[in-house]
Amino acid sequence: MSHRPIYLDNHATTPLDERVLAAMLPYFREHFGNPASISHVYGWEAEAAVKESRQILAEAIHATPEEIVFTSGATEANNLAIKGVAEAYFKKGRHIITVQTEHNAVLDPCHYLESLGFEVTFLQVQNDGLIDLTELVKAIRPDTILVSVMTANNEIGVLQPLATIGAICRENEVLFHTDAAQAIGKIPLDVEAMKIDLMSLTAHKIYGPKGIGALYVRRRNPRVKLSPQMHGGGHERGMRSGTLYTPQIVGFAKAVELALSEMDSEAKRLTNLRQRLWAKICQLHGIVLNGHPIQRLAGNLNISVKNVDGAALALGLQPIIAVSSGSACTSTKASPSHVLTALGHSPELAFASVRFGIGRFNNELEIDLAAEHLCKTVKPLQTVFSSI
Ligand SMILES: *Cc1c(COP(=O)(O)O)cnc(C)c1O
Repeated sequence: MSHRPIYLDNHATTPLDERVLAAMLPYFREHFGNPASISHVYGWEAEAAVKESRQILAEAIHATPEEIVFTSGATEANNLAIKGVAEAYFKKGRHIITVQTEHNAVLDPCHYLESLGFEVTFLQVQNDGLIDLTELVKAIRPDTILVSVMTANNEIGVLQPLATIGAICRENEVLFHTDAAQAIGKIPLDVEAMKIDLMSLTAHKIYGPKGIGALYVRRRNPRVKLSPQMHGGGHERGMRSGTLYTPQIVGFAKAVELALSEMDSEAKRLTNLRQRLWAKICQLHGIVLNGHPIQRLAGNLNISVKNVDGAALALGLQPIIAVSSGSACTSTKASPSHVLTALGHSPELAFASVRFGIGRFNNELEIDLAAEHLCKTVKPLQTVFSSI
């Protein structure tokens, strides 16, 4: 057995599933063709694989294959959705609504658009991480062109009420984008029932390869217009130029297919592991659960601990368990998580937090060891902290 730390950071990325790797390998080797090559069998093979993958992804979210635009991941999909809509609709309006707890791949494109003269409303969240729907309704104006609300939060796992948000947007004739990077393959998604117009996806959070994702772009009722952000050969119906990365696309589809086929049983298993973890740590002095207790991803547990130095906590955990700490998503900067401060936490409490992302390859023994190590790490830190 390896002595590397127990991996419980499955919201950051996941290991590639062996079955996904096996599906990808032939497309690095014998089937290496360019799917855009129409005059020989090498191209046809690659094209057939891309077509089949596109079909699998479309079915996974109740879309049609023509509505799937492949990108390098969810970051690019979010950029394409937000900047692409802003450029295509600025004559109609220049107001966008999003949420303070979004991923930076949504927040930063919005800040960029502000610098170009767009106006952005960043909705607050309630203490449980959910948006207040009456606040959303109040924020919509005649010049609002887009609402962007993530499906599942990458830090606290909270699931926003997509279908209700979709209904509100449709009623007001505002486009609705959702970043579903953490949600695809983990909860049911239906762009028709949920009235979603644009949806960002990625493969590497569900045991697929890094560097591949997609944007769902609605084609009818309404037909979404999008300004491309990558110009070139006119791939993906002009919305995203660049040679399609066949092995990654095949792996993406395989990862989604596997996640969907195991979704219900896996959600139950992960919920049990999460409850087991919480039961073993909830008696710790000063522990706080971050985010809604039930309306969250099965594998997500995010906690803060009062009267503990966040940096010391992260340092103490790291040799035994690989988790993200309260500054993880801005790890190059020493600032507290914007998600946890949006919940009303002080910077100190936000720093002293741990995100557990439990995944497909974790088991009960690992959860027990992680719980034990967390308790062992926290207790002395609290004594030291409170005595100074
Ligand atoms: C991981 C993640 C992203 C970024 O996805 P990439 O494919 O790594 O670019 C965006 N949004 C959320 C919610 C994420 O969890």
